[in-house]
Amino acid sequence: MEILINLGYLVAAVLFILGIKGMTTPKTAVRGNQFSASGMLIAVIVALLDHNVVSYEYIIIGVLIGGTIGGIMAKKVAMTDMPEMVAALNGIGGGASLLVAAANYLESQKLAEMGKFVPTYDWSIAVILSILIGAVTLTGSFVAVGKLKGKIGDSNKVKLFKWIVKLCLLTLLAGAGYFAAVDPLHADLLVAGLIVLCLVLGVCLVMPIGGADMPVVVSLLNSYSGLAGAAAGFVLGNNGLIITGSLVGASGIILTSIMCKAMNRSLTNVLFGGSMAATAGVSKSENDAFYEGKVKFSSADELAMLLDGAQKVVFVPGYGLAVAQAQHATRELANMLEANGAEVKYAIHPVAGRMPGHMNVLLAEAEVPYDQLVEMDTINPEFSQTDVAIVLGANDVVNPAASKDPNSPIFGMPILDVHNARTVVVVKRGLSPGFAGIPNELFIRDNSLMVSGDAKKVLQDTISALKDL
Ligand code: NAP
Repeated sequence: MEILINLGYLVAAVLFILGIKGMTTPKTAVRGNQFSASGMLIAVIVALLDHNVVSYEYIIIGVLIGGTIGGIMAKKVAMTDMPEMVAALNGIGGGASLLVAAANYLESQKLAEMGKFVPTYDWSIAVILSILIGAVTLTGSFVAVGKLKGKIGDSNKVKLFKWIVKLCLLTLLAGAGYFAAVDPLHADLLVAGLIVLCLVLGVCLVMPIGGADMPVVVSLLNSYSGLAGAAAGFVLGNNGLIITGSLVGASGIILTSIMCKAMNRSLTNVLFGGSMAATAGVSKSENDAFYEGKVKFSSADELAMLLDGAQKVVFVPGYGLAVAQAQHATRELANMLEANGAEVKYAIHPVAGRMPGHMNVLLAEAEVPYDQLVEMDTINPEFSQTDVAIVLGANDVVNPAASKDPNSPIFGMPILDVHNARTVVVVKRGLSPGFAGIPNELFIRDNSLMVSGDAKKVLQDTISALKDL
């Protein structure tokens, strides 16, 4: 039976790896998802057969409670709230590892009293790592949720938090070392103290990081939740959990590094007080003063006329496209332009929207052909040969200040060079700033026009106007 169970976990692990491989390109992503889902099904069945792990009654109760909560959450969550949901699920994953390891610790005490368990160094290290990383992930993720929701603002006490973090880390090192080296089964108070310390550490690690850096933090916490899971796997002696936890840990850290690169930041810079950390954005009056009398407003009718004569059009989607749910209208307009003989592409910035791959997911929903989705480095040289670049609810990812203004909170973040297009048409509801809270010089450039309104409505009006031409 044990061989069968381990074989099952191995098959599941191979399917997870094939799943991740499939998800590296949009074309194979659906198949990748199916591989991963089948892997998870096998892992669940194998865990159920592994009767030593837990009794069936608890499994059924767990599935019913977890399935109901998960189902309701998944049904209710708006596409724009996905990053918060991902962050919250990371936190819950970390919390689960913390509880599993803590329960195993208490159970091991009972077994040791009966002479059925002798703690080893491996066991002590796995228990303490699972508890500690799990606790940090739990509170860190919920602070990230608060920041993404805008309920927790950027802190101006960065230095204080950094000191607390250092103090916590030193105490932890000493406490965890003592736990592993001395008598781990009679250290209840120490373990409880370390858990509290790590819960505080999770809060203090994330609090000083600026809201604009949250995507990187969420992806790092995702990696932590994987590591905590892998450690819990060692505690339980469950190979399936060790493999999946390691996969999540490794892929989370790879995604973190890709995102840091996309924002031109180092991980240390993000975590320990980079320039974004202290930004609070500009006030409304400063924002209004920046644009006063300098924006050239246009209309859907004028946009239709401009597009009618265009040979090459690039759509630049951003967070506003998701808010407006304008992906289908975008595709419809693109179809009309193509029928008119124009070449159409979509410029994808790695951190456009509010989660990695946000724009790809939205545009895939509208069945935009994958080969028209062009990544930043490839599309940037093409803007100078583009007749019209239509910026749909994007702001920070097209802000030239990122490359020009060293004092800008987004300085160093690579952007889409839409300003090089012959004409730039910006579609957004007004002059509100984007996520980083700063004005955008693109909107007042000579070659820029703004059509104000909800992106979907403006696109629909443009489609009607094009039909009437
Ligand atoms: P953005 O800078 O946040 O700007 C979005 C713009 O959309 C706003 O200025 C808003 O202006 C407009 N908008 C909102 N609703 C709209 C609607 N219904 N119709 C038309 N426009 C609408 O977005 P972005 O350029 O995509 O940049 C993403 C930012 O989010 C970056 O700073 C990135 O670091 C950060 N971030 C990214 C992720 C990720 O993983 N992708 C996660 C979290 C944060 P109005 O209100 O004036 O319309």
